[in-house]
Amino acid sequence: MKFDVNEQGYYGQFGGAYIPEMLYPNVEELREKYLSIIYESGFQAEFHKLLKDYVGRPTPLYLAKRLSERYKATIYLKREDLCHTGAHKINNTIGQILLAKRLGKQKIIAETGAGQHGVATATVCALMGMECIVYMGKLDMERQRPNVERMRILGTTVVPALSGSMTLKDATNEAMRHWINHPTDTHYIIGSVVGPHPYPDMVTRFQSIISEEIKKQLQAEIGNPYPDYMLACVGGGSNAAGAFYHFLSDEHVNLIGVEAGGKGVDSGESAATTALGKPGVLHGSKTLLMQTVDGQVIEPYSISAGLDYPGIGPLHAHLFDVGRVQFLNVTDDEAMNAGIELSRTEGIIPAIESAHAVAALQKLDLYEDDVVVINLSGRGDKDLETYIRWGKY
Ligand SMILES: *Cc1c(COP(=O)(O)O)cnc(C)c1O
Repeated sequence: MKFDVNEQGYYGQFGGAYIPEMLYPNVEELREKYLSIIYESGFQAEFHKLLKDYVGRPTPLYLAKRLSERYKATIYLKREDLCHTGAHKINNTIGQILLAKRLGKQKIIAETGAGQHGVATATVCALMGMECIVYMGKLDMERQRPNVERMRILGTTVVPALSGSMTLKDATNEAMRHWINHPTDTHYIIGSVVGPHPYPDMVTRFQSIISEEIKKQLQAEIGNPYPDYMLACVGGGSNAAGAFYHFLSDEHVNLIGVEAGGKGVDSGESAATTALGKPGVLHGSKTLLMQTVDGQVIEPYSISAGLDYPGIGPLHAHLFDVGRVQFLNVTDDEAMNAGIELSRTEGIIPAIESAHAVAALQKLDLYEDDVVVINLSGRGDKDLETYIRWGKY
């Protein structure tokens, strides 16, 4: 398909596998086998059965009537917030744990920042009876205590990363080090469309169930599988990649990625990678990232933990580069207001990540008969503290 990764693992100038030599065998094993494993009929049957019976798919495509009236367009919400564990991340972790089993691995490692990917990974490890270690910055563990306890309840060992700033990038380094030392029995589950090839492509394929379902659901609803706009928030970019994938070659579908503008793009406190980023290497691939002139990664900021990432996946960097996806950014305040607005108009309290996508509605020039789909990546329960601290409701 147009925009698929090439043989060398690149999307245009972005992608590849920039990894220490000692990781090469692990990544090479994955690269050689992932496509044949995931498209084997037994794998597909098991994957889709778990998505149905365990995750609760297909998730509804819900016509948001009151929101539609307000914005004078036809607005649908793709309800990923109704997935088991409350967000889209489980689509990917189910896929990767099945892959790990077929590669003969007995152990799983992952790294997590806010803890959402850690919980999704701990969940599928419990489901499959696999041993799981999650690396997490010590500071993040203190900030995200409930997710640490969720992982522990699920039987996962959470290991604090004590180096550097004791946050996500330090946890990533520890996970990489662990993988180098345990290449044969361990699979490393990456949680977004980032990392060395083949991770971005593999995670995109697992998440592409989102747009596969949207097409069928829209066809049944309105007799046409194509919306005018498809909106999704972008941290690393996995829910957006999944929501965009089956629309990529249909140029009349406007694809909109929404990044975290934090306190404003020019404030020095944001995570608006496409607005501020330059090409560089992050987490094993060449992509756009926020960096200083001498190439140091800039600490990102967003009120939403899931969007607080200094880069985007290489597929998105390419889609931005060639103009296939338009990227907008939304400030903390705009997102929080949109979260309250959705709560009040539809009775749905969204994750603050997803509220960014909702807030972008105001930035579009919508016509009365436009069909808009917003990917509602997650539910707001995990963000209750942030809503309370923000307070304006
Ligand atoms: C993790 C997360 C995100 C951001 O991750 P992507 O890979 O960009 O999708 C968005 N929304 C929710 C609810 C999340 O948990």
